[in-house]
Amino acid sequence: MYDIDRESGSDYVQLEVYSVPNFERPSFNEATKQTFVHTSKGQSFGPSWSTHWFRVTVTIPDRFKDAEQIDFHWDADCEGLVWTESGVPLQGLTGGGERVSWILSKDWKDGKKHLFYIELAANGMFGVPTGGDTIQPPDPNRYFNLHEADIVVPNLEAKALYYDFWMIGDAAREFPGESWESHEALQVATAIIDAFEVGNQDSVLEGRKIAQKYLGKKTSSTDVYKSDEKPIVFATGHCHIDTCWLWPWAETKRKVARSWASQVALMERYPEHRFSCSQAQQYKWLKQYYPALYDKVKEKVKSGQFQPVGGSWVEHDTNMPSGESLIRQFLYGQRFFESHFGSRCETFWLPDTFGYSPQIPQICRLSGMSRFLTQKLSWNNINKFPHTTFNWVALDGSQVICHMPPSETYTADAHFGDVRRSVTQHKSLDQDKTSLLVFGKGDGGGGPTEEMLEKLRRLRGMSDTIGLLPRVHMGESVDDFFNRIEKKVADGTDLVTWYGELYFELHRGTYTTQAETKRHVRKGEFLLHDLEYLATYASLENKDYKYPKKGIDDLWEGMLLCQFHDCLPGSSIEMVYDDAGKLFTEFFKTGASLIKEALKALKIKDEPEKGDVVVPISTFGWKRNGTLEIDTAEQKGQKTVQFQTTGFGAGTTGDVQSRSVHVEETKKGEFIMENGNLKMTVVGGHITSLIELETGREVIPEGKKGHQYVIFDDKYGPNISGKSRL
Ligand SMILES: [Zn+2]
Repeated sequence: MYDIDRESGSDYVQLEVYSVPNFERPSFNEATKQTFVHTSKGQSFGPSWSTHWFRVTVTIPDRFKDAEQIDFHWDADCEGLVWTESGVPLQGLTGGGERVSWILSKDWKDGKKHLFYIELAANGMFGVPTGGDTIQPPDPNRYFNLHEADIVVPNLEAKALYYDFWMIGDAAREFPGESWESHEALQVATAIIDAFEVGNQDSVLEGRKIAQKYLGKKTSSTDVYKSDEKPIVFATGHCHIDTCWLWPWAETKRKVARSWASQVALMERYPEHRFSCSQAQQYKWLKQYYPALYDKVKEKVKSGQFQPVGGSWVEHDTNMPSGESLIRQFLYGQRFFESHFGSRCETFWLPDTFGYSPQIPQICRLSGMSRFLTQKLSWNNINKFPHTTFNWVALDGSQVICHMPPSETYTADAHFGDVRRSVTQHKSLDQDKTSLLVFGKGDGGGGPTEEMLEKLRRLRGMSDTIGLLPRVHMGESVDDFFNRIEKKVADGTDLVTWYGELYFELHRGTYTTQAETKRHVRKGEFLLHDLEYLATYASLENKDYKYPKKGIDDLWEGMLLCQFHDCLPGSSIEMVYDDAGKLFTEFFKTGASLIKEALKALKIKDEPEKGDVVVPISTFGWKRNGTLEIDTAEQKGQKTVQFQTTGFGAGTTGDVQSRSVHVEETKKGEFIMENGNLKMTVVGGHITSLIELETGREVIPEGKKGHQYVIFDDKYGPNISGKSRL
C-alpha cells in the first residue's frame, strides 16, 4: 500500500530449505547443520505441525541504496522466527499479514550477500483449525504457501499519513455527530484528501502537516511522552500466550520466543513501550531453549520496559486445583521471579481463566500481591458484572484491588474505539476514572505491533486538545497504575466491595471435560502430599537421607503446568491431552520411586518378609479406620485387614471383624455401602439413599437420585468465545 519499490528476483533473494522430518522441532544448532536445498517463493510447506528451516541470502539492489529503511517481507500464512546467522532470535513473523515485515540492517546496503535464517512452523496463530472452526479437531494436512519473500522499500511518510488519516477518520465517525470534535475531524480528513495526489510525495508531506492540526505535533516523537495533564487511560502491551490450547506445549515454547523477540525489538524503536508478561513457566522455557533471547529480556526487565506480572507458575484454573496446588502456583511462580529478576510480582494477572475461587485474594496477599487484573467476566452470557475497579474480598476477609479493563479485552488492537471505551464502558467512574488498556495480539500474533504503537502515539497527541478523547498514556507499568489507585484508596476513596467467588457465566462443562487429566491431577496432588510428608519424616529420622528437593520441584512444576486454564478445564485439543498423559506416566513413576526411597530411609520395607509386622502409616492428620488390602510374607496375594490410626504416623492392624466398613449387593444391581458413619444405597449407578447413621438423617429426598450425570451439548458460542471445545 505504501511501498516505493520491492524486489524478489533470484539475484537478490535466494532461498534454501531444510524440511525437518517426523514433526521434530530441532534447535538452531541442530537444524542449521543439515543439508539445505534450493527453493523459491510460490512453494508450499507442510503438513500441519511440521517445521521448515530457510537459509535466506539477500543482496540489496543498488537502486535501494538511498532508502531510509529497507524491510524484508515474509508471508507464508503461518508462524515463523527470524534468526541471525549466528543463532540469535530477532523477531517473530505471523502470516496472513499479521506481522510480516522485518527491518534489515542499514549496513547491508553494501552490495554484498547477507545471510539469515527463518524457522517456519506449519501452523497459524490459532493452530490449524479445520475450516476455521476451533471446535473441530485440527486439520492434520494443511500446507502453507510462501507468497511473499521480498526486499521492500517502504514510503515511511506515506505510512505515517496512513496512520494519521486512520485515527482522524475514526474520530470523525466515532465521536458524537453533534460534537465539534467530530466536525473538525471531518474537516481535517477532507483537507488531507483534497491535498493528496497519487504519486506526489510533496502531497503526502502536505497531508501530514494538515493532520497535525488535529493530532498535535508530538505524534512522531521517540521520547517517552510526558503530558502535564493527568492521563486516565494507561496503555500496556501484552501478548496472552495460552501455554497450550489449539497447539501443544512444544509449540508454545516457540510462540514465546517469537513473540518476546518481536517485543524486545519494538522496545528499541518505541521507548515509551511497556510490555507486561506473566507465567514463570514461559520465562523458564525461554531461559532453557533460547538463552540469548532470555538475556535480552532480562536486560529489558532491568530497564523497566519488560515487566513480569502475575506471580504464578502459569495462568491457571482456580476452580479445580486443590488448595495446596493454588498455593504452589504462587510459591513456584514468585520464587522464580524473585530469584531471576530480583523481586516478586506485585500484581496477580489472570485475564482469561474460567471463574475465580473466593480464596484467591487471600493467596495473593500471602504471596505479596495486593492487586489483581482480570477481564474474563465481561464475556458473561447472562449477567453483566457491575464493577470495573473494586475491592475483592476472600472468605477470610483478605482483599485485593481488582481491575477489569473497560475496553473488555486483553488483546486490544489499540483502536480509537478501545481508548474511548476505556471511559464509556467504565463502571466505577464514581470512585475512580482511570483504567488500563491491555493491547497486543495474543497466542502467536506476537503482542503489540508497530501499527498499534503508532496509533497510540496519535491518540496521545489527539487527547492533548480533544476533550472528548480520554487522555491515554504510556511509559508506566501496570504496578504504577495500581500504585496510583492504592494511594487514592489510602487517601480516603472508598471502592465498592465484592465478597466471594467471581463466577464466570460461559465456558461451562469445565468440571467434566477430559476426565482422565482431571483424575491424574487429583491423584498426583495426593501423591505429592504423601511424598512430601514421608520425605520430611525421613529427613528428620535419618541423617543419611537427602530430601529430594529437585525431584519434588520437577513433579510440582509438571503438575502446575497441567493446571493451565485450557488444560485442566478441558478446552485444549487432543494433542495436549496426549502430552499430559505422557507427563503423568512419568510423574507417577518418579513419584513412586521417590516414595520408595523415603520409606527405605525410614527402614520401612514395602515387601514384607516372614515374621514382619505390617504397620499402616497415615499421611493424614486425622483419625481414620477402615480396611486395607495388603501382601504378607505368610500369605502371598491380597489380604484384607482392619486398620486404625490416630493421624500422622503409624497405626495398628487387625483381622477384619468389624462390619463397620462393608459393601453388599442386596439384590441384583442394588448395593449398600457402609463405613460406620454413612450408609449409602446405590441402584443402577445412582445414589437412591444416603443416611448419616448417628442422626438417622436421610439426605436424598424420596424418589430422587444423587450422582446423576446429565450430558449437555455445549456448543454455545463457537464464534463468540473461540473456546467452545468444552
Ligand atoms: Zn487463555
